[in-house]
Amino acid sequence: MMPLLCFNKAHYPVTTLGPGRRIGLWLQGCVLACPGCVSQDTWTFADDQALSLPVLLTWCQEVALHGLDGITISGGEPFAQREALLALLQALHDWRDKAGLNFDILCYSGFSWRRLQRDFAPLLALLDALIPEPFQAQQPTRLIWRGSANQPLIPLSLLGQERYAPYLHHEVERRSFQLVVDDERIWGIGIPGLGDMERLEQQCAERGVQLGGVSWRG
Ligand code: SF4
Repeated sequence: MMPLLCFNKAHYPVTTLGPGRRIGLWLQGCVLACPGCVSQDTWTFADDQALSLPVLLTWCQEVALHGLDGITISGGEPFAQREALLALLQALHDWRDKAGLNFDILCYSGFSWRRLQRDFAPLLALLDALIPEPFQAQQPTRLIWRGSANQPLIPLSLLGQERYAPYLHHEVERRSFQLVVDDERIWGIGIPGLGDMERLEQQCAERGVQLGGVSWRG
């Protein structure tokens, strides 16, 4: 039986986590608890957030009709769901091959590069690029798509090499951030700089808007 994904959210188009117009998939569940994590809403492994792969794939195929350069998988800790992540990556590969598409697959992980190589090689073989290592709040960075300076961008395939080589050491002056508003919440897509969320909260408060239930505080 196909494993269910413990899932947080999906969005298209994502333009702040990898090159081009992308699908963003956020898996639910992380036990790493990096100090300073801005996505604490993704930590719990909630039974009521299970999603079947065919449902997700159908949605991906629909939005891809508008143009798709890549898929970014984040979390949470995607590799904490070994079987589900493997099934997801295999399904994305099948779709890409059969449809003759050229999107790349980038994945974030808070696990170390060494551990991923040792324990997750079959999954790495299905990725085009990877950003591993836990977020370290005391190592701020301007490196594009990275939260802290200890996080390398590692191409893992020919496509990954082609697409990501220009960005390995690329730094940005200002970080881009997408804001999405739905019926229940406002959420941001991208990598905020050190203190950005607190500044946002303070500026909202100065204008009389109190932010509640924020994901950057436990
Ligand atoms: S930064 Fe990523 S790996 Fe670290 S606690 Fe947050 S979700 Fe988990």
